[in-house]
Amino acid sequence: MNKSHSEYASFLFFNFDQSLIEVFASKAPTISAFQSFETFLLLSAFGRHPQALVTLCSALESASAASTGRKITDTSEGGLARAWEVLNEVIPRDYQLPTNPTRKQLREKRNDVAHFGFSNKDDHDCAFYSLSLGVPLFAGWAEGEYGINLYKSCGNFGRLLEITVGVIHDSKRNRITALDASSVLRRWITFHLRETFMADWEIEVLDADRSTFGTSPASGIEIRETQLKTLQDTEPNALIDCPICGEFDSMFIALNEKELFNNKRLSPDFGQCNHCDVRFPPKLSPILRELCTPHLNEALTASICKSYGVDLA
Ligand SMILES: [Zn+2]
Repeated sequence: MNKSHSEYASFLFFNFDQSLIEVFASKAPTISAFQSFETFLLLSAFGRHPQALVTLCSALESASAASTGRKITDTSEGGLARAWEVLNEVIPRDYQLPTNPTRKQLREKRNDVAHFGFSNKDDHDCAFYSLSLGVPLFAGWAEGEYGINLYKSCGNFGRLLEITVGVIHDSKRNRITALDASSVLRRWITFHLRETFMADWEIEVLDADRSTFGTSPASGIEIRETQLKTLQDTEPNALIDCPICGEFDSMFIALNEKELFNNKRLSPDFGQCNHCDVRFPPKLSPILRELCTPHLNEALTASICKSYGVDLA
């Protein structure tokens, strides 16, 4: 029995239905563009930001090749420069793209890393160029070529990715560095992919360990217990479902006092999950607030206000 190529296409982050995958397969190399994009995410998760940037640029080149149906024979700067021209044609005119960094900066960084190498100090720039420009370019292409919302195509991870990109664009105001912002993405990916790398018995041991101690590796238990205890002494606070691992009522959030008592609003300043161990120190509060928004509903606001004696009427 002959299998079509599309039956072999599998994705780690995207949930495309089979009919869309068939459409992709008819426009080679669309599938490799999306798979390279996923590899970019994997490399980012393991902190290999320079190689992640190179892979993201490959995804962009495959994307432009999918739109023209032509092979890019020149893989040097010229090839990538031509890919930008194609993307310009495909990305909808009203699609919001940042002006900082420039495409030239992204291209030059890619060439430096690919042909020369890199050091630790390139990590920040690579994370910044990738998340603030590379990802929106790819998302713009997916929208223009296929009418797909990239962020909505990868479940609740997509929301985190979109928030991270937004927070980095706004970094002048919120002072979050690209590396700090990407740390939450890394936590999500490594937590959700851990089962890929573990035997069943390891997962069982880890889960038993968590339910007993509310934390994971033995060496870190005491430190984390102390961290969490200090956090739980903070008032006002609330418990919500973790936006990273999805565990029920496992995310402890410390609420901003002024916002609660003066404005009757729940605004988290910092947080920590006792299931997946994700931590949001105060500097990451803009990401935490965005992620928590769906959980901070009227019912929770009413019950928190009541428990702290804030009159809602
Ligand atoms: Zn969690």
